[in-house]
Formats: sequence, C-alpha cells, structure tokens
Amino acid sequence: MAVSLRDRLYRTNAVVLARQDYGEADRIFILYTPGRGRLSAIAKGVRRPKNRMGPHLDYFTEVSLELAKGRDLDVVTQAATVNAHLGLRSDMDAYGHAAHFAELVRHLTQDRQENRQVYELLASSLSLLNDGVAAWPVARHFELSLLGLLGFRPELFRCLNCLRTLEPEANAFSNQLGGMLCPACRAVDPSAVVVSLDAQKYIRLLARSGLAAVIGIALTEPLAREIASLTASYTRYVAEREFASLGVLSSMRQAIGPAGQAPDPPS
Ligand SMILES: [Zn+2]
Repeated sequence: MAVSLRDRLYRTNAVVLARQDYGEADRIFILYTPGRGRLSAIAKGVRRPKNRMGPHLDYFTEVSLELAKGRDLDVVTQAATVNAHLGLRSDMDAYGHAAHFAELVRHLTQDRQENRQVYELLASSLSLLNDGVAAWPVARHFELSLLGLLGFRPELFRCLNCLRTLEPEANAFSNQLGGMLCPACRAVDPSAVVVSLDAQKYIRLLARSGLAAVIGIALTEPLAREIASLTASYTRYVAEREFASLGVLSSMRQAIGPAGQAPDPPS
C-alpha cells in the first residue's frame, strides 16, 4: 500500500554542512540535525533564480526544514532560515573555521545517529564565530568537545598506562591510546609526542573549565601551533583521514591577506 505524502513529511532544524549541484537545477545537501544526526537530502529546482528555498540553504546556515522521506534521499519541501550567520560571509577567518567545523562533523559522525549535544555544539560554535569571538580558541574547544561527545574524550589528567595523576613534567600525548602518558610510561607508545608544560596546562584548563576560561589567554605563536597540531593530529587519527579546511584557510591567508573574501569550502 502506498504511503501518503502526509505520512512521509517531517520537520526538523538543520545546519547545512555541504552541498553539491545535481542535474539541471537540483542540489544535494549534507545536513546535521538534532534528532536524526547527519543526513543527505535533495532540494529540487533550488538553483532556479526564482526558487524560494534556495537563499535559505547556504553553507553553515541553521534552517528549519520540512522534508519528505524518500527511497534514497529525503526531499526538502520547505526551508526557512533560523540563523543565517551572515557575519561569517565577510570574515575569512571565521568562514574558514566554520568550514572546519562542518568538515569535522561531516566526517566524524554517522548517518542518522541522533546526537543532540553535537548539534548544540555545532550551532553554538557557529554562532560564536558569527558574533566575532576569536576563532582559534572556539576551534580548539569545538575539537575537544566534539571528540568527547563522540566517545573519544582524551585523558589529560592521569597517565593512561600507570593511572598515576600527571605531574607537571615531560608527559606525552598518545593518539593510539587517546591521552597522556607519564615520562616513565612514554615508551608504551613510541609515537607519543611530548607536550610542553604550557600546552598541557592550556588543554587541561579548556577540558576542565570550558571556553570561557581560556578565551582571554594570549598564546605565543609556537605554543598556539603546538596545541592546534596536538588536537589536529588526534582528530586525524580518530577519523582516519586528513582534513582540508584549515589548510585551505592558512594558504588563503598567505595568498590574499586577512581582508579577503572566502570562496566555497572544499567538499
Ligand atoms: Zn605512567
């Protein structure tokens, strides 16, 4: 028996993670939703100039959608903007970091696995970028929180091998084990990287006390690089893939300087 259209319809909020043109005038979207996790949907005719849904379905916007369940892809039947995040469009650094968040969520989550906290983290982090909050600490907070919400919270306070509370010394981070090793146990994972005391302090503070506790801390360039490379390397290990957005951002910064306009993020 055929299911009526009415029974196939549902409503949800969503953040647009990625999109791809399809056919003459359609577009396929990768969305993240509070109740259904990641999902792909098609919006038909959305690239036609007079289409009313098109303007709402831009990168990193938070939208309210009506969808119809389809055989392969669900079909977007209505779209309205909840939060356009217009501030991202004129700030290359914020836009590049928004692309990074979308890329991580897209590749670290599974289709149709509900995780409302991931949705809240994504929506609130995009809003912070949109409001002009410094992108660097927002990004480190996002990475650590996302990994935690997906079951990969790194152990930063105790040695993963001997379980001793870590002292301020040359402890190392092991991607494989998902956290710190004390100097005596470091050899358990020869690929573990020794972390400077200041970097250890910063990520512990961030993990324990949240974004507000670190937002005002000024970091030297080498320290910022060390911390970002620590979270990037663990994220890469967990996802088993490289991520492109931050690399694109940094080469754009070098090429056109901080005032330029960002193009579409990599898909
Ligand atoms: Zn140990």
